[in-house]
Amino acid sequence: MRPKVLQLITEGKTKKVWETENPDLVILEFKDDITAFDGAKHDVISGKGAINAAISAKIFEHLNKNGIPTHFVEFVAPRYHVVRRLEMIPLEVVCRNIATGHLVKRLPMIKDGTRLEFPVLEFYLKDDKLHDPLINDHHVVLLKLASWKEIEEMKKITLRVNEVLRTFFEERGLILVDFKLEFGRDRNGKLLVGDELNGDAMRIWDMYTGKILDKDVYRKGYPLDEVLVRYREFYRRVVGADFPGEEVCLAT
Ligand code: 5GP
Repeated sequence: MRPKVLQLITEGKTKKVWETENPDLVILEFKDDITAFDGAKHDVISGKGAINAAISAKIFEHLNKNGIPTHFVEFVAPRYHVVRRLEMIPLEVVCRNIATGHLVKRLPMIKDGTRLEFPVLEFYLKDDKLHDPLINDHHVVLLKLASWKEIEEMKKITLRVNEVLRTFFEERGLILVDFKLEFGRDRNGKLLVGDELNGDAMRIWDMYTGKILDKDVYRKGYPLDEVLVRYREFYRRVVGADFPGEEVCLAT
């Protein structure tokens, strides 16, 4: 049953978090805002929030079905997720299958587009003012962000998510280049995958044309209507139908 919404807990760049009458559940609202470069670039694309909410819901449902512990409870169209309330860990856990983005900037001896021999895991501190610096396991423990045991658990879950999602996307003619997970603890201290999983948090290429279907098109400066076309295409491939537009969603 859908819990009643109370007040706003917090508002981020692309999502709002609402308190509910159930203290263990919160509601995420996906906004139409799109940002890049730690918020330095910002636009609003009508429909983007609904597209991302629907994609994220499909992916989280698939992870839940595969026994991966996540916060996701229910999708409320067009742009809301009911999720378990978590104490979020300010870390971004990145998993890479193909070298691109920051990896090739940092290590230019690895050619952009190289398929990596094994999935490469990285931790970034979630801090816009510091531009999300790359940190290692020792830094995570030193900063008291997570214990050694939790680090191992986050790595294990991230690798499992990678296996499950690689297959999920391959079946849809898509390549999972890399992705970012965020974790939180529930009231019992159990680690769950939180946040969102869509084109804002992963790189996805069309297997046949190589077309980018994620936020990189925005980062690279494509016109906003083309960004929307790519997000709609990602929606079509994941959901299996054309994005109906928000008005139609709201009417259903
Ligand atoms: P890179 O480190 O190459 O910029 O990104 C690696 C992967 O993590 C990409 O799929 C990218 O979308 C995701 N990622 C990295 N940092 C962030 C971030 O601050 N926010 C979001 N939503 N995704 C990120």
